[in-house]
Amino acid sequence: MFLRKIKIPVFFAVAAYLIFLSLTAGIPPLNKTEKKYPLVEKPTSEISRKAAIPVQSDTSLIQERKVNQFLPMKKCDGYQNAETGEKVVALTFDDGPFNKYTGKILEILKEHNVKATFFLVGEYVTYYPVLTKKIHKQGHVLGNHSFSHPDFKKITTDEMKKELNKTSREIKKVTGKYPLLFRPPYGHCTDSVNHTVNHLGYTIITWSVMTDDFCPDAKAVKIKEDILDKVHPGAIIGLHDGGGDRTKTLKALPGIIEEIREQGYEFLTIPELLNIEPYK
Ligand SMILES: [Zn+2]
Repeated sequence: MFLRKIKIPVFFAVAAYLIFLSLTAGIPPLNKTEKKYPLVEKPTSEISRKAAIPVQSDTSLIQERKVNQFLPMKKCDGYQNAETGEKVVALTFDDGPFNKYTGKILEILKEHNVKATFFLVGEYVTYYPVLTKKIHKQGHVLGNHSFSHPDFKKITTDEMKKELNKTSREIKKVTGKYPLLFRPPYGHCTDSVNHTVNHLGYTIITWSVMTDDFCPDAKAVKIKEDILDKVHPGAIIGLHDGGGDRTKTLKALPGIIEEIREQGYEFLTIPELLNIEPYK
């Protein structure tokens, strides 16, 4: 009888534990390793971004929507391109520094003598300080792309401030430069995002030319074609050096640079293109 009395509670405890395990099976663990998983800008965010572009009678906007389905939301209070007729463009890279891809992009840029602008994820700066230093040393400009890549539309202003401050402090710690350029993750802005970011002294930089190089099934040829189709005077071109497998971006990059140059364009960094200060 005594044994039986023990067994029943043990049975319930084991059953409860098994139910708990089955309920939590799909929840990823929150640990350091999990955070290292690639931060991929999923195509779904691009679709919602496209849908979120307000319908206006502004003809320039309608024109832009035709040429570029990856335009960031118009709500971002900053720059998505330079207003110029001159054949100048800026190459920008998001979501790094990231493993071997950023290093290889640096090699390609060096080979082609191009200076670009890198919008860094703060958390990755903590993982790759040497790579961060290398980007800076090679003469490229460093911008802030938040610390953990959240959707700024979904976080509080306090969280936004932390994301911005932590990243800029980390970049300053590694390179000695405190960035003033900010690219919101997914290109998402609201009035509150604009106000908070601008109030902290940052300039918001989005893009006017982007392709789907962040998608796992992207093709190098298509990436190149997309960029070449959409390039225009004053364009800010968005590519990705981090957040996932960027082999296709690497493969497309030399051709993108060579053919844009052949069209008579000059590559500038964002502060050169917009005549603004990159650092505090
Ligand atoms: Zn991003």
